[in-house]
Amino acid sequence: MNFLMRVGWSRDESSKKRDSLENSWESTESKSSMRVQVQNPEHRIFSAATLKTLESLSKLPGIGPKSAERIIQFLLMNKDSVGRELIESLEGMVEKVGPCQICFHFTEEPICSICLDERRNPRLLCVVEFARDISVIEKTGSFRGRYHVLNGRLAPLNRVGPDQLTLEALNSRIEEGIIEEVILATSPTLEGDGTALFISNMLLGKGIRVTKLARGLASGSSLDLANPQMLADALEGRRLI
Ligand SMILES: [Zn+2]
Repeated sequence: MNFLMRVGWSRDESSKKRDSLENSWESTESKSSMRVQVQNPEHRIFSAATLKTLESLSKLPGIGPKSAERIIQFLLMNKDSVGRELIESLEGMVEKVGPCQICFHFTEEPICSICLDERRNPRLLCVVEFARDISVIEKTGSFRGRYHVLNGRLAPLNRVGPDQLTLEALNSRIEEGIIEEVILATSPTLEGDGTALFISNMLLGKGIRVTKLARGLASGSSLDLANPQMLADALEGRRLI
């Protein structure tokens, strides 16, 4: 099993190329000696500690095996500065940061600063898929309500159903009777639209104005790819569902 397969990396083009290379090597007369090299090349090249770090880094979104190797190289060359600083900051974050008890945004306190901010409009709630979407909307400077983080979107094919999202908590917030408008800021994708539809049906008959971001965001993308002005316009032009 090669390194890409060992770390669970998807069969992208590079892995296909590697597989075809292995197959071509196997067809040669000296394939037995070649296969020893190909089976676990990382064992010859990397120490156990390096290999473990490579595997961990490769689990991160957007980091492929090549990027993981570049990061390892950089960290080992800058151990005492960047390396140790990264260990400390990661350790602190993992230990201290968790979900807000109200909105599920990341926070070091039980309740996040946005939920505690009394200058924000408690009657206006923006529902987002991920906590990272909050920073994108905050950059527009045009939203002064509060948020609710779903922690994902409905994706039946990936077995993400309503129970995996924070919908029960959202329902409880609505039941408190303070919220008057829910803005569904899900991603402009099939799954995002499906999630918005599910929530709008869930809120039917509760006397809540349910709106959705105006179209204009690139279909199939995510909120963090939209520029602040485009997102501000989508918020401003939100429409009733
Ligand atoms: Zn909060």
